Amino acid sequence: MLALAGYPLGLRFRFLDPAPDSPAGQLAEHIMADYTDADALQRFMAGLDVVTYEFENVPLELVHALDGNVPVYPLPVALEKGQDRAAEKSFFKSLGIPTPEFMEVNSKMGLDEAIHKMGLPAVLKTRRLGYDGKGQFVLKTNSDVDFAWTALANPTLILERFLPFDRELSIIGVRDRDGRTEFYPLVENQHRDGILRLSLAPAPNLMLELQAKAEGYAHSVMAALGYVGVLAIELFQVGDRLVANEMAPRVHNSGHWTIEGALTSQFENHIRAVAGLPLGSTRTPGACAMLNLIGSLPELEPILKIDGAHLHLYGKEPRPGRKLGHVTLVERNRDTLYEKLELLKELIDK
Ligand code: AMP
Repeated sequence: MLALAGYPLGLRFRFLDPAPDSPAGQLAEHIMADYTDADALQRFMAGLDVVTYEFENVPLELVHALDGNVPVYPLPVALEKGQDRAAEKSFFKSLGIPTPEFMEVNSKMGLDEAIHKMGLPAVLKTRRLGYDGKGQFVLKTNSDVDFAWTALANPTLILERFLPFDRELSIIGVRDRDGRTEFYPLVENQHRDGILRLSLAPAPNLMLELQAKAEGYAHSVMAALGYVGVLAIELFQVGDRLVANEMAPRVHNSGHWTIEGALTSQFENHIRAVAGLPLGSTRTPGACAMLNLIGSLPELEPILKIDGAHLHLYGKEPRPGRKLGHVTLVERNRDTLYEKLELLKELIDK
């Protein structure tokens, strides 16, 4: 989606991805190699003007190896924070951004002590490599503790206070090389089995104060990191408070609706930012809904028959829990949007 947004700007692309069936390989030169393959890295770097990433688990060593040879945006420090939940949450706290109370856990004894101090319910999460609800367990009672500890089989964890939130939101912002920023409206995100299923943008019943608060938080994160590119912060809304759950130093699934729903998509704005070009307008003329296609593909023709439905397939092999594509609806009228969304949900869940 980054390449698709960048071609009309006259840019060309090369991708490094260990996966043989990388969707990017359908669109541009694809260097298929392990992230630690030094020869491949040389081939990848040769002649590039700038490097970016759209996956926060690329090894930090790789980004450091590139940095110094070719500009890398967002800067490696953003990746460093985004890869480790403890570092990320301490960073939020240092900026005065509310985040659920948490404690680092490095042993079973440490876990028992943390539970004793924090109480239950709580969420036990791996510090690294967790995504789509993987690498974490909600601990409701003491009987959940042994199971979660064994299942995670990882001593580098955090225990986080369970937050009974009203809803989940995300703020997506972009910062250019000169420090100018733009923000998309807050998005409401609904998950199923820990995986993002539906994004509604702008989030229904969005108060201006909430938007301003979210932009303020994202602004301070980006300023502190000397950030260049698109950044997403996942937030819990509790009353009129926003509590930061995590950040993603990249384009984000909850921003896929911007392809049709905003004057400039998150992908184009990310490309513009890292390439040193002026940012585009983030204005959203209508209300949007984005539904992910997860695990298997539904029948496509009925979806295409919905007036105004935009289908995006990524060319990935179906696999349980895998995001294979998404469908976006954009409408001026929210009632019409919800009517079409109900129809779309039925088709996708069939
Ligand atoms: P994460 O991998 O941190 O994004 O967490 C995945 C999902 O688990 C979130 O989208 C929330 O629905 C839920 N979750 C994570 N942390 C908490 C928490 N501290 N309190 C309540 N729910 C949480």
